[in-house]
Amino acid sequence: MLLNDPLSNILFVDLSKKEFWVENRRELFDNYLGGSGVGIQLLNETCPQGAKPLSPENPIIFTVGPLTGLYPLASKTVAMFKSPLTGNLGESHCGGRSAIAIRLAGYGALVIKGASDIPLYLAIHQDKVFFRDATSLWGMGSNFTVGRVIREIEPGDGFRTIMRIGRAGENLVSYACVMTETYRHFGRLGLGAVFGSKKLKGIVVSGKRSLPVGEKKEYRTSYDEIYNAAVSSTAMKKYHDIGTAENVSPLNELGGLPTKNLTEQRFPEASKISGEAFAERYLGRRLACSHCPVGCIHIAALRESYEDEKYFYKTSMISYDYEPIFALGSMLGINDPEGFLRLMDQVEILGLDAMSAGVILAWATEAQNHGLISEKETEGIRLQWGDYHAYMQMTKKIVDQSNPFFHALAQGINHAASLYGGKEYALAFGGNEMPGYHTGPGAYIGVLIGARHSHLDNAGYSVDQKNIGKPVMSPEVLVDTLIAEEEWRQILSSLVVCFFARGIYPRDIILKTLNVAGFPINSEELTLLGKTILHEKLRFKIREGYTLNVDNIPQRIFQTPSSLGLIDKEYIRTAVEYAQKKLLEAPV
Ligand code: SF4
Repeated sequence: MLLNDPLSNILFVDLSKKEFWVENRRELFDNYLGGSGVGIQLLNETCPQGAKPLSPENPIIFTVGPLTGLYPLASKTVAMFKSPLTGNLGESHCGGRSAIAIRLAGYGALVIKGASDIPLYLAIHQDKVFFRDATSLWGMGSNFTVGRVIREIEPGDGFRTIMRIGRAGENLVSYACVMTETYRHFGRLGLGAVFGSKKLKGIVVSGKRSLPVGEKKEYRTSYDEIYNAAVSSTAMKKYHDIGTAENVSPLNELGGLPTKNLTEQRFPEASKISGEAFAERYLGRRLACSHCPVGCIHIAALRESYEDEKYFYKTSMISYDYEPIFALGSMLGINDPEGFLRLMDQVEILGLDAMSAGVILAWATEAQNHGLISEKETEGIRLQWGDYHAYMQMTKKIVDQSNPFFHALAQGINHAASLYGGKEYALAFGGNEMPGYHTGPGAYIGVLIGARHSHLDNAGYSVDQKNIGKPVMSPEVLVDTLIAEEEWRQILSSLVVCFFARGIYPRDIILKTLNVAGFPINSEELTLLGKTILHEKLRFKIREGYTLNVDNIPQRIFQTPSSLGLIDKEYIRTAVEYAQKKLLEAPV
């Protein structure tokens, strides 16, 4: 039990009135732990039905959990909002220092409502909240520079996080992200555009409270158990050594690496952009989120000479992971690692979600090859697989939205394809651009039925890989497996534990840690809670008009063989209809 636990304090901020207040909601945290569990409750409470995602009515909610600040790898913050990309549930998770800073500032959640009339950033230093004029930061070319300026201005006591948007967020690109601590993101589903719609350039949170634990002996024992598991686990070593980029080569070998807008399932030059290649030639440093002994964040050092100055170089530090390598690498046919890094850097500077940006550029390339768009739409840019210079120009134009075509691209792939055609190869599921797994039906059913339409909802790609060489799983068993996984992940994302650590946070450890943290719960209650939180998310989605529609699936996924061979459309239809009954028509 913690003494004077600040977790149940929620800081509410009204940007329209420039007011803030704190409410103590212990019952919310008692019933739903924190993270996703508390976040979806707050979203249901504070987001009016039918609110437009870019209107002042759409709230931004950040939540942390009972293990935040106490245990290793409980390092994530959950953001909840209504997504401008899908028009429905927006949920995004981010590490860095965000979670620990929020908790040590004395809060379990932040709820930001309204919209400012001028650009500002919020500075939350424990119980003091400042609305700082950000007019001079608005329109600044680089997301990195914005972070540096805020870092200099704001006091730096204790744990501090600096969240901010780039020009993509300011210009309301539907898949703009929010960057924290330079190399971490609230990516996917457009939180950056929601910031932009509120004229909210950034949020600084700092805190230096302590979290005094009552049961010191139990705390020490359970802490050591988790820490030792984390530093001795082979899975965690993999994340530390090469990072998620290690997946490039095996997925390519398995025929599950989407390439050139999924016209191919293998990239013949994958070895040039593999995790091993980056580690050998470019790895500059590794970083870790706060309270994480693993350090999976890999940063490349790219040294480039100035054009007209011999022996003068600039070195850019650029983070890379599997998903950006797929989206801005194989998906665009880019085999030059430095070309990939330059494009990645540009995407970061602008503040775009790398996955959505890459998948959209891949669709645009194919649409131009098929004559659906010409160089008139792209303002003279000829798109060719592998030409990263052209893709860099495209990303700038998407952010500037210099003509109707780029404006359409800024609204996401489904919107662009509805205007220009090419729906059959517009690779989005539930409105969210695809992740980097063409492993089989599990990957696609997973993103179709997952609450966030993310591969991390239920890891369908992992089920596919385990099924290689085995008898085909029935669609019903596959769906049941995915739903069970997603229900369990609601617990992890309510604590809030990094999903990479799911193997070192088994059920018995979670029960022990929750007991120490002052949230005693038994195993059956934990199972029921996972189900409840998932159903609460679905309740929000149904309220906002969500339906599962198998007819909107891009046909391309049925044409290119996956790691498990050609995907059968009828199999997907049966699975989705079964999921519809289980998830959407069941009483919630
Ligand atoms: S494993 Fe990686 S993403 Fe997860 S908490 Fe550690 S550094 Fe952050």
